[in-house]
Amino acid sequence: MDQNSAVRTPASWVVVGLDNGGTCNNATVLDATGQFLVDHLVENPSRVQDGPESAVEALAEAFTGILSLTSTPLSLVRAVGLDTPGPASATGVISSKGSTNFSQVSWHGFDIRGALEARIGLPVLYHNDANAAALYAHHRHFGAEAPARSSVAAIVGTGLGGGVVEAGKVISGAAGMAGELGHVQIPLHGVLEEGQPVPVCNCGFAGDVESIASLTGITNNLLPYWLTRFPEHPLADEPVAKAAKMLRGYGEKEDPLALAVFGQQARAIGKLFTIAANFTDPAAYFLGGGVVEAAPHFRQWFLNTVREHTQLRREQQEAATFALVPDLDMAGARGAAVAALESVSA
Ligand SMILES: [Zn+2]
Repeated sequence: MDQNSAVRTPASWVVVGLDNGGTCNNATVLDATGQFLVDHLVENPSRVQDGPESAVEALAEAFTGILSLTSTPLSLVRAVGLDTPGPASATGVISSKGSTNFSQVSWHGFDIRGALEARIGLPVLYHNDANAAALYAHHRHFGAEAPARSSVAAIVGTGLGGGVVEAGKVISGAAGMAGELGHVQIPLHGVLEEGQPVPVCNCGFAGDVESIASLTGITNNLLPYWLTRFPEHPLADEPVAKAAKMLRGYGEKEDPLALAVFGQQARAIGKLFTIAANFTDPAAYFLGGGVVEAAPHFRQWFLNTVREHTQLRREQQEAATFALVPDLDMAGARGAAVAALESVSA
C-alpha cells in the first residue's frame, strides 16, 4: 500500500490507540473529529516474552513511531488508549495467575496501564482486546448513533472473546470481567449430537461457549469427537492441533466434517446471543475472528447459521441486526483509541 495516501496529518488534538499482542503492537491515531489518521496496520515487535520492562518500552516505541509517521506533535496528544489480551482487571492489572501472553512471573499482577502512563507521561485508558474490538465494531456500525445504541460481540479465535456495549460504552464490571462471553454456559440441547461428550473449557467449566466456539474447543473437543464419526477423513492423519487449524480450509470447500464442526460453533453462538437477547436486548449482534477472514460464502453461511439459532421475539427481530466485525486486525487499536477519545471528550 502507498503509505503517503494512507496517512493523514492531524487537524486538531488527537488520541493514540495501542494494541498489544503476543508478537506485535499495532498503533493508530484518532483526531478530535473522529477521523483515523492511519488506514493500515502499523506494527512493531511487542517483546512481551522478554518481560514487562521490555514490553512497556516497545509500547513507548509504538507510540513515538505512530506520531512520527503521522507528523503529529506530542503536544497535540491528550490521551492514549491501550488494549492487551486478558485476563486483566478493569484498570489494566494483568491477572495474578498470568496468562498465555504474559507467562513470565514478572507479569503476574503487573499494572501495564500504570507503567505505560508513567513511561510516556500521558493519561492511559485500558480495555482488554476483545472489549476494544467490540467497542470499535459498535462505533463503526452505528456512527453518530453509537452513544444511543447497544450491542454484543463474539470474537472467535484461540478462545472466544466478547464485549457488551451499552449506550456506546463497554460494560467493564466491578472486577473488569464483564463481557467474558466465552465462559457463559449455554444449553446444549440442539448443539451437541446424541452421545457426544460434553465439551470442557480450559477455565474448568463444562459446556460454556468457548469449549465449542474457539480453536481450542475444536482441538480439545469437537475434532476428536467428529473424527470418530468420519474415521476415513484426511485430517485423521494429522496431529490434532494442526488439523484444527486446517479445518477452516475444508469448511470453505463444504467438507461435511468441517461443516458439522462449524455448524456446532454457530449454534453455540446462537445460544449465547439468545441469552444476550434476554439480558440487554441489544440493537446489534457482532461476530468476529478467524471465521470473518474466511471466504465470503463461508462466513455468510456461518453468520446466517448463528442468526437462525438466535431465538429472538418478533419485536426484537425487527429491531436487531447481525453483522461481521470489520477491520479485525486493526479493531483493537481503533477501539482503544475510541475509548480514549470518549474519555477526554466527556
Ligand atoms: Zn470457559
